Amino acid sequence: MKDLVEKKAANEVETEEGSITIEIVYRGIFQKTLAQRIARSIVLAARKRGHTGTAFGRYGDSPERNGVPAKYFAVVAINELELESSMAKYEPAVVDVSIVVDDTLVKGVESWAWYGRQPIWKPVRSDGFVVVTSEKTPDEVLAQTDAAERPYTLAVVPGLASFAGLWVFKDDHTDYRVLGALARLVPDWVRLEDVQALIREQTKEGSAADSAQHGFDATVVRAVAPGEGTSGHEVLQFDKPGWTTMRPGIIVDARKPGERNPYYKKYGARTLRPVVNFDTCIKCTMCWLDCPDECFEVTAEGHYEVVYEACIGCGICAAVCPVKDCIVMVDEMKFTDNKDTWALWKSDHDAYNRWFEEMAGVPADPKGVAARAADAPVGTPTVSHDAASGGDD
Ligand code: SF4
Ligand code: SF4
Repeated sequence: MKDLVEKKAANEVETEEGSITIEIVYRGIFQKTLAQRIARSIVLAARKRGHTGTAFGRYGDSPERNGVPAKYFAVVAINELELESSMAKYEPAVVDVSIVVDDTLVKGVESWAWYGRQPIWKPVRSDGFVVVTSEKTPDEVLAQTDAAERPYTLAVVPGLASFAGLWVFKDDHTDYRVLGALARLVPDWVRLEDVQALIREQTKEGSAADSAQHGFDATVVRAVAPGEGTSGHEVLQFDKPGWTTMRPGIIVDARKPGERNPYYKKYGARTLRPVVNFDTCIKCTMCWLDCPDECFEVTAEGHYEVVYEACIGCGICAAVCPVKDCIVMVDEMKFTDNKDTWALWKSDHDAYNRWFEEMAGVPADPKGVAARAADAPVGTPTVSHDAASGGDD
């Protein structure tokens, strides 16, 4: 039996709606230009077939913060009247397609615009699409996505999360691959020939149009039924007081010394997380001093452990740590919780070190670390795309 995507590709499903709403979920600032380019290109490609549309960023995400999830939108309609009625909202509460340009965002998003973690599919209508750029399989992506409440199609566009510094754009064709994938999923609105014609006009590059074709061909789709996904992520929702229930005046409850604010969690901003080798740590305090979010707690032994609920994954600790592979930045998709890890090292040293080696992909034993450091030619990077280590190489 053909699934929805195959039927659409064979033009067996007619467009009945007067408009389509697509959101692009991205990591604030680092991927802003990418999201903007995808949203604008959707509208420009749709115009080539006579549709109209508009692209806009979410006001509530400004000012953006590094790594914090943010959104861009593209609304395409069959005519100005339909567009106007689709736009009669401050922000689309329901979308047909959600494009996610960093696969770690499927663990749930807490944006600048609201409090609490929300499933990535939250605004996606029943039988809509979640499109994720990832090098993982749809099943691996789904394993980190909140259990579905409605059926949707998960589409994985091959490629790593495309990060650039602040306002800089990393031109690795992620936008073209995503546009190609969209042409496959919603051909009534975005056609591959229109996408490629637009890209040729913009770039004069054949390879860019080829990337759109690659996105069209290589995107892997999987139908997701209600209940599929994980129920392992923290439920982080807050009941905010209405104005009639607020206390008089402005009262900010103070935290006791050494206590962390239980409502202020920052892990949703993280693409990589640091793991620490306590056996090689020389207790120099550099990570503790330089962490911009004060994530480190000093242990009874004088080690420094990361409080993962507070860590934004900036990587500064790994960069300043003077010991090779003592702090390694690891793909956030490898983790299923935010539990602190020093307690395991304390209670079961060998189990901790096995865990460290599995996550970091480097030896935990100080002798192994020393041998590896001696073997590596000066300047040889020891990182893979999903792990980045500290130390002075
Ligand atoms: S990655 Fe390191 S420096 Fe950055 S917030 Fe996390 S613990 Fe702190
Ligand atoms: S910077 Fe590295 S060696 Fe220094 S205290 Fe932190 S983990 Fe230990």
